[in-house]
Amino acid sequence: MGARSGSDYLNSIRSLGAEIWLGGQRVADPTTHPALAACARSVAALYDMQLAFPDEMTYETEDGERVGLSFIQPKSPEDVARRGRMMRRWAEYSCGMMGRTPDYLNSTLAAMAAAREFFAAAGARFGDNIVEYYREARRRDWCATHTLVNPRRSRAAGWAGQSDAEVALRLVEQTREGIIVRGCRVLATLAPFSEELQVFPSTVLKNEPSAKPFALAFAVPCNAPGLRFICRDPLESMASRFDHPIAARFDEMDCIAVFDDVLVPWERVFVCGDVERCNVLYAETQAVVHMMHQVAVKNVVKSEFMLGLAAKIAQVSDAMSLPHVRERLAEMIMTTEVMRACLRAAEADASLNKWGIFVPARAPIDVGRNLFPRLYPRMVEILQLNSSSSMIATPSERDFSSPIAPDIERYLAAAEISAKERVALYRLAWDVAGSAFAGRQLLYERFFFGDPVRMAHALVDNTDLEPCIRLVDNLLRKQA
Ligand SMILES: Cc1cc2nc3c(=O)[nH]c(=O)nc-3n(C[C@H](O)[C@H](O)[C@H](O)COP(=O)(O)OP(=O)(O)OC[C@H]3O[C@@H](n4cnc5c(N)ncnc54)[C@H](O)[C@@H]3O)c2cc1C
Repeated sequence: MGARSGSDYLNSIRSLGAEIWLGGQRVADPTTHPALAACARSVAALYDMQLAFPDEMTYETEDGERVGLSFIQPKSPEDVARRGRMMRRWAEYSCGMMGRTPDYLNSTLAAMAAAREFFAAAGARFGDNIVEYYREARRRDWCATHTLVNPRRSRAAGWAGQSDAEVALRLVEQTREGIIVRGCRVLATLAPFSEELQVFPSTVLKNEPSAKPFALAFAVPCNAPGLRFICRDPLESMASRFDHPIAARFDEMDCIAVFDDVLVPWERVFVCGDVERCNVLYAETQAVVHMMHQVAVKNVVKSEFMLGLAAKIAQVSDAMSLPHVRERLAEMIMTTEVMRACLRAAEADASLNKWGIFVPARAPIDVGRNLFPRLYPRMVEILQLNSSSSMIATPSERDFSSPIAPDIERYLAAAEISAKERVALYRLAWDVAGSAFAGRQLLYERFFFGDPVRMAHALVDNTDLEPCIRLVDNLLRKQA
């Protein structure tokens, strides 16, 4: 099949019948559900782009099939950069507000399949399974969600959370057909719009026999019997596009995933009961770095968008000459340029890894991933500081066609633009920096890649500090 159209995607989601719960009711069809349909159409639009721009968005596999470029196993630095350009096109569609466009997991899966031997070391079939699953995902152009983290009853339990054994996702039985799993994982973003759920290791299990049932990596279709997704509240996805220009289109939804004795066929199991392999899976396969590539592209586009919005507000409100506004814009320019530099360096210094594919350079991309959760909240803050009450003095679309429209036209117009254009601009600012959607974006940027403290640990672990320490030693020696 290969790269598919948006309508193929929507038909697939419609007929899937996954068990999705929202507001106490089961969702019959996410493509028509009032709170979900808009985002389903946005995902469909991404797939349509693949067919509209086949040279930029797809590539030909060894079997001669044209598939989505996000599935590529890069064979050169140019392949990495090409994938980055493809990711950028998808990121631009939502101005970086959809973190989980399918390239996020497609590039991860491609990296894992390249590292076949990593999985095969625990048994040849596990290596075959990851490769076959990757090929099928690529052939069917699946949209996937993933879930890594177990819920916790107590924070005192430590990383592995063994006191949470009854809620964490775990193996309960091995049968001839496969493994049976039970428990819960948080979160699965994009789940109502996905065909597949990829379950990878919850990071850092204690290396002891009692952790074995939690050491799992597998994939199931989202409609697997016993699998349920529970949605959070929708974020204005039913509103008009004028009133909520971002939230009304790009609420990618976050779900709790409940596994009620779900059977995972053996051919979809990648790791089973191997604690050590689970703990090093992302780092050893370098899937984490490929995943960061999509994140770095998204960060660039999102920074550019936030900067553009702040600049437009400064222009429209005639505030471009105010020193504090200029200082804040400079801060946003710095963020944007740092994100661009991280991405560019990572792509330029891409190198061949031990699994035979090119991977972006880890150091700059890792710096970007650690910085953005600190810089993005400041960008949001600047939008608030430079908008103040204008962000909330925003009548709705309906007001503009009501008897009070003349009041709005008279009192809310700016020097160069009409009241309707001005309100549209500040409504966008509200959506990005004030609304429930904005709050979820903030939380997403702070946590979606993991605990920021542990992300910082990984950066220290992966940095060779010796050359820097040598500089100090050399200086001390010269003084002696
Ligand atoms: C919007 C959003 C979407 C997400 N989507 C996905 C997804 O699709 N797939 C997926 O696998 N995961 C997803 N995640 C989950 C993400 O992986 C986790 O949030 C991340 O790994 C951190 O884990 P945690 O939330 O359990 O926090 P922890 O790792 O437990 O903690 C994170 C940090 O918060 C602090 N902290 C948390 N609670 C407390 C407390 N009570 N007291 C003191 N400090 C505290 C900790 O000290 C730590 O520094 C998503 C998260 C968000 C917010």
